[in-house]
Amino acid sequence: MNYQERLRGARLELEGSRLDALVVTHLANMRYLSGFTGSAGVLVLGRRETVFFTDGRYRQQAREEVCRARVKIVNGKPALAAASEWLARHSHRRIGIEAAHLSVAGSSVLAQSLPARAKLVRSPPIVDRLRMVKHPDEIARIRAACRLGSELFGYLVKTVRPGIKESEVAGELEFRARQAGAEQMSFPTIVAGGARSALPHGRASSAALPARGFVVSDFGVILAGYCSDMTRTVHLGRPVAEARSAYQAVKEAQQAALEAARVGRSVAEVDRAARKSLQIRGLAKFFTHSTGHGVGLEIHESPRIAAGEREPLKAGMVITIEPGIYVPGRWGVRIEDTILITASGSEVLTPCPKDLITI
Ligand code: ZN
Ligand code: ZN
Repeated sequence: MNYQERLRGARLELEGSRLDALVVTHLANMRYLSGFTGSAGVLVLGRRETVFFTDGRYRQQAREEVCRARVKIVNGKPALAAASEWLARHSHRRIGIEAAHLSVAGSSVLAQSLPARAKLVRSPPIVDRLRMVKHPDEIARIRAACRLGSELFGYLVKTVRPGIKESEVAGELEFRARQAGAEQMSFPTIVAGGARSALPHGRASSAALPARGFVVSDFGVILAGYCSDMTRTVHLGRPVAEARSAYQAVKEAQQAALEAARVGRSVAEVDRAARKSLQIRGLAKFFTHSTGHGVGLEIHESPRIAAGEREPLKAGMVITIEPGIYVPGRWGVRIEDTILITASGSEVLTPCPKDLITI
């Protein structure tokens, strides 16, 4: 990972935003800029210097992992208090904070040593924006995570059957993932059968899968820090005509969005492509979430693939395409792939079959 290049990119944005320093408190951003994978610390990015503050528990880990930043181990006070003193000593005036990742209590600790002329200001999402376009080494990691994620689908098909608990299916996937080296799942595995498939985020429960109906499974793994994300919907028993055509409609909507996902197109256009395809069949009202999201160090990161968002797609972005329809109390269908935007189109990183599988 080229931390020097990342820091250079962040500094350019810092200057563009007329900030003297940026206090990074979001762990994924901290990891992106420094390599630190622990769960407590503060990274201060000054115009010239980068300093990482953490406590004694992370002394060894910080020494091993942190690249291109001075490490300061803080004892007896919060890392933010030490960052505040450092900022005061270096007479920084306009200090950017990641407002979405700093509590009110945290910001008052950060302000405590600052002189009156210094100001904490909401920073634009500098690091989040840098993270949108992946470097080749990041793409290799996401590709590996997606490959493992896709392999899990084979186990899913073997495990799903009427009467088995959703949590047992999820457990089997998670066990296989860990066996294959996954650090953890990207998020709590979703397995939702029958009427529960109408819950877009129906986490695997103790409910037994029905004899007949859809089963929506949404899962991903974290491998070497990077996430994968995919959803497939299978059907238990013979699907009635309505279920079959609903599935087909989602599959076509997903295909329409995949085809719209090209360099230069806006993320809103991709969302519109999926929605329009469902609209033709009168099903758009059941598509109740956005079409996708960026994937990387975090399972949900920028850009959002949604109406009203203006971000143009760039080569190197990794996003999901996941339209779904949900009829409350009855059933739901979702199909999701993680894709890489390339110069000439896109590459599906989770290439599992999408024809309706009946079990
Ligand atoms: Zn998903
Ligand atoms: Zn997703």
